[in-house]
Amino acid sequence: MSYKNYPMVSRVVFGRGSFSQLEDILVPKRLSTIAPFIFLVDDVFKKDPDLTSRIPLAYEDKIIYISAEEEPKTSQVDELVEDIILTCKQRPSGIIGIGGGTVLDMAKAVAIMVTNQGEAKDYQGWDLVKNPALYHVGIPTISGTGAEVSRTTVLTGPEKKLGINSDYTPFDQVILDPELTKGVPKDQWFYTGMDCFIHCVESLKGTYLNAFSESYGEKAYELCVELFLDNNLSEEEAQDKLMMASWHGGMSIAYSQVGVAHALSYGLGYLLGTKHGIGNCIVFDHLEEFYPEGVKVFKEMKAKHDIKLPQGICANLSDKEFDIMIDVALSLEPLWENALGKNWKKVMTREKLRDLYSRM
Ligand code: NAD
Ligand code: ZN
Repeated sequence: MSYKNYPMVSRVVFGRGSFSQLEDILVPKRLSTIAPFIFLVDDVFKKDPDLTSRIPLAYEDKIIYISAEEEPKTSQVDELVEDIILTCKQRPSGIIGIGGGTVLDMAKAVAIMVTNQGEAKDYQGWDLVKNPALYHVGIPTISGTGAEVSRTTVLTGPEKKLGINSDYTPFDQVILDPELTKGVPKDQWFYTGMDCFIHCVESLKGTYLNAFSESYGEKAYELCVELFLDNNLSEEEAQDKLMMASWHGGMSIAYSQVGVAHALSYGLGYLLGTKHGIGNCIVFDHLEEFYPEGVKVFKEMKAKHDIKLPQGICANLSDKEFDIMIDVALSLEPLWENALGKNWKKVMTREKLRDLYSRM
């Protein structure tokens, strides 16, 4: 038996207002005055001087605003990398991602692709990256995905939606400042927060579970229940707790796997462009059979926060379209093995998947 030897984020700051320490953190990492830091920033902050004025620009550093309207694509990563290589006099000192899972994943992918030949799509998979990435920093502004702590960057390529999973993917530095999440719209807060809750359920109910994953998953689950169902928390306490739940949820799946909801949600994302958080919620709502207790708690949370999920999104799909989603979902073998065990193919047939998708 050979055990996995995982890299982790090597440095992390936690605290309200800690974003202000970014300059002190970056100064010693600058390679030269012509090796800039590139800040990839969610474009929701474009008109928010509160955040942008605190980005410590010097010399030839630059901000590139990224839209989170759509999830990151391999082609978008390639374009950004080309632009950076063409416009910088020297290889950048580092890439700093400020935003949600979309921008954090983009920052990880760009940091990898600046130092590795070819196109981002060539690296979708496991352990295909050859050279260490540029120094990269992640600063989440919405909590739940665990992208700040994970060993993957999820990208949609021409053929598949799959992560670049590698030892070089995790951030070298993360800044966890819960204050940055204060402007998140309520529905989005719920969807991304539920991504974390679902990570915990899928990890804790999976066959890959072990004491490492369980210890992180249980803590994150407990934090989610507290912050989504307890009336006595202040807004600040809830922000702090969700940021730590996201971290622990991400750590929990690092050493196990996600499950049924993620496999189906990837299918919706690939065919319909449904985003990860809301896609997981749409799917999870129909998974009582696999996660009875988790779905019950999810429905309580949904009712408490008066969240209305889209209905009937698969109502008018053709057989061919169902087949595309089913193919994407079935290709995620480790997720099914974790969720249902080694004989998962006997349980999760194409007919079963079609039935599940038809209900959404
Ligand atoms: P997101 O980054 O797509 O952002 C969702 C919305 O919230 C966007 O409109 C964004 O502009 C807005 N937003 C973000 N911060 C805000 C703030 N402080 N104030 C106001 N609006 C704000 O959402 P997400 O759910 O964090 O990320 C989803 C992405 O993460 C998907 O692409 C998914 O594939 C990826 N993901 C990655 C991992 C991983 O381990 N790498 C894990 C799970 C999900
Ligand atoms: Zn997820």
